[in-house]
Amino acid sequence: MRTRVCISIDTEFSIGGAFTNPGRQPVAEPMVWCEVGGRSQGLGFLLDQFERHRIPATFFVEAAHRYYFQEHDPMGAIARRIVAGGHEVQLHTHPCWAVFQHADWPERVRREPLQDEFFGRAEEDTVQLLRQGQQTFADWGVPAPTVFRPGNMQHDDTLFAALARCGIPYSSCVGLAVFDSNDPRYRLYSGAHHRHGVLEMPVLTFQDWQLGGRRHLKTLTIAGTSFDETRLLLERAHAQQIPLVVLLTHPFEYVQRRDDHMLAARGNALHQDRLARLCRYLDGNRDRFLPTGMGEAGSALQSTPDERNLLLQGSGWKSIRRLAEQAVYDRYGSWALSRQGAPA
Ligand SMILES: [Zn+2]
Repeated sequence: MRTRVCISIDTEFSIGGAFTNPGRQPVAEPMVWCEVGGRSQGLGFLLDQFERHRIPATFFVEAAHRYYFQEHDPMGAIARRIVAGGHEVQLHTHPCWAVFQHADWPERVRREPLQDEFFGRAEEDTVQLLRQGQQTFADWGVPAPTVFRPGNMQHDDTLFAALARCGIPYSSCVGLAVFDSNDPRYRLYSGAHHRHGVLEMPVLTFQDWQLGGRRHLKTLTIAGTSFDETRLLLERAHAQQIPLVVLLTHPFEYVQRRDDHMLAARGNALHQDRLARLCRYLDGNRDRFLPTGMGEAGSALQSTPDERNLLLQGSGWKSIRRLAEQAVYDRYGSWALSRQGAPA
């Protein structure tokens, strides 16, 4: 059996500090395209790699920002461009944007802290957000979403009930090292699991090291995992007959930046190299791995889920090497960015 590999990209705009500083405004396209010197180091880089290696990916496109961008709607063109590239667009929602539907939003955000949580949210409220997302996809003229991913991987049992009510058949809500609801029913490391009739396909969570009795969990992201670790996990997943591995990334992780407008920014060569090597590896190992979109994976696994929930082991040495490599590169990036900003 081939292991499906789903590269998922949460594609979203930035509040840009507008909640804490009324003089600031949300940042749209620069957060997604991440243009540096006339070249897209974010979405453009990703689309180019996927095309080169014939990898269909899944872009979870944020829709609640539309409460802010009512007249000019910059994400519509982005979503259509992604679909034209042969990829899936699926629904991603950050509830914090919903505050912009109220004219008095500056007072509201001053009064109460950021409402960006799906955890603990009333079912009716969640249903309303999901329906807003479905309507947005229809307005954009892209296929109706069949998979949902919440902002910050925030979930609870009520969210799944709401997904079922809205007729969204699949989800990718769980990434335990990002968010743990402490509900044992949702302590999902791998596989595909039915909850309220919705098929949940968690982002892979693995154990990267263990010291004494303490084990450390990590969720599989491009920004947080070296290619050597990812390859090891893919091989172990295949050996254990895990039917799919879900990875998480964001377009803005392919630049190092000092601000969301990308005024001082540079390509992130470390992350770009990881993604490029992963795509090349998947392309060259199609006998064992099948890169697919998540809606496609959901419909393939609907009747044959894998509810074993295996926890894969990484390699302690590889994670130490990754930490060192990342620290050196981040320090170099800050130095290079400070030189960009320095007077000539
Ligand atoms: Zn997000």
